[in-house]
Amino acid sequence: MAAPTIATLHDRVRGPVITADDEGYDEARKVHNAMIDRRPRAIVRAANVGDVMAAVDFARENSLALSVRGGGHSVPGFGTCDDGVVLDLSGMHSVWVDPSARTARAEGGATWGDFNAATNAFGLATTGGIISTTGVGGLTLGGGIGYLDRGFGLSCDNLLSAGVVTADGRFQVASAEENADLYWALRGGGGNFGVVVSFEFRLHPVADIYGGPMFFELDAAGDLLRTYREYIATAPEQLGGFPAFQIAPPLPFIPEERHGEPFIAFVACWTGPMDEAERALAPIRDVAPTVAEHVGPMPYPALNSAFDALVPPGLQHYWKANFVTELTDDAIAAHLEHGPKVPAVNSTMHIYPINGACHRVASDETAFAYRDANFATVIAGMWPDPADNEANIRWVRDYYEATAPHSEEGGYINFMAGDDQGRIRANYGGNYDRLVSVKRRYDPDNLFHLNQNIRP
Ligand SMILES: Cc1cc2nc3c(=O)[nH]c(=O)nc-3n(C[C@H](O)[C@H](O)[C@H](O)COP(=O)(O)OP(=O)(O)OC[C@H]3O[C@@H](n4cnc5c(N)ncnc54)[C@H](O)[C@@H]3O)c2cc1C
Repeated sequence: MAAPTIATLHDRVRGPVITADDEGYDEARKVHNAMIDRRPRAIVRAANVGDVMAAVDFARENSLALSVRGGGHSVPGFGTCDDGVVLDLSGMHSVWVDPSARTARAEGGATWGDFNAATNAFGLATTGGIISTTGVGGLTLGGGIGYLDRGFGLSCDNLLSAGVVTADGRFQVASAEENADLYWALRGGGGNFGVVVSFEFRLHPVADIYGGPMFFELDAAGDLLRTYREYIATAPEQLGGFPAFQIAPPLPFIPEERHGEPFIAFVACWTGPMDEAERALAPIRDVAPTVAEHVGPMPYPALNSAFDALVPPGLQHYWKANFVTELTDDAIAAHLEHGPKVPAVNSTMHIYPINGACHRVASDETAFAYRDANFATVIAGMWPDPADNEANIRWVRDYYEATAPHSEEGGYINFMAGDDQGRIRANYGGNYDRLVSVKRRYDPDNLFHLNQNIRP
């Protein structure tokens, strides 16, 4: 494309347009996963909804690839592209809370840190991710799994309405009353249907929680996973949290001589009455003595940012994921073989519970289909040095291959690597055909294809 065309883009938007000629281009093209090294023609830092409309129009009119970036956490790097336009929403991150209606409206580029800080001021929260730097946008559109999902459902289950710029450059509202098919598809269908410039969420009274990480010796891992499987099936829904294979980071609450060793951890989040918290955690505690722990009352945003330092920008990422209905003894045996081999302090494997309120939504009520699954697993490979890519990717793949036979065919789209595009149909089960028909209606030419793509 000749330079004058980019000049037109400059004229059409209020936010900065960054190209390879600009200082800051290399910084602006980065996404969270440092393995992704792409060179877009232009990065538009949208300042408002008008900029979003203009960038969408510009990409469509010039037949350019369009990447939509919220928090930039997509592991396959969907938030950037070669040769196309990156629509970077990070400048649009305001959050407004209506405490009397118990709702909040977040702009399309807000992170969970932005969101939780705003809502916690009113003693309110909704289900979001476990790391504060993840974007509200990508996480919610894929479903949204986090500490609060057993009690309040997935993030997308709390989405009341969305303001969307569709492929034709028009602003449309999606809710139960308006464009109900689009509203259905946005709740789990990923970034396939348009650019969401605002998300309206239902909030719940959650201010301080009781929780944090507990580290147990690896020889307790089998008992812990079996106890977790039984207990979480009927545990009070105020209990969230997950088991993890985790190398001990150099934190003051962990004995120094144990830093760098692998453990089985349990990260807890109790949102019920404080004086009932320890009773709720007792079945997990009774498995074995903890080697180290940092458990107690804290504001919900403190837990949401407690592990941010383990996943700074600039790591290499390779992830695999599955939904699990029954965590069988054979599955646990596979975890016991591969989990303790976790190769880097940043890497981990989590088994998130997605029962409770998530199960009270029917499989066809939202695009997120796996409403009978009890768990979502993620094998999250994250490490600093590209020289270690092969060994770390191997760990993720071996672990995945050992656990996949004990899992559902599909997995959570937000936990998947770029080489999982072949699993899209399985990820949506019976909802896939309906997603295709909504895609045909709102994006017939597949302008929004840099995602876990539903082809029109
Ligand atoms: C460190 C880390 C922790 C994570 N923890 C969790 C977790 O606890 N729970 C969980 O469910 N997931 C989690 N994830 C996965 C996360 O949900 C996905 O990576 C998600 O895509 C991140 O959204 P983002 O906006 O940050 O990403 P981006 O890379 O900015 O966006 C990813 C894709 O989402 C779409 N998108 C983003 N914003 C918009 C928007 N406003 N409008 C339209 N499309 C948009 C686009 O298709 C975009 O390409 C985590 C990921 C990382 C790296």
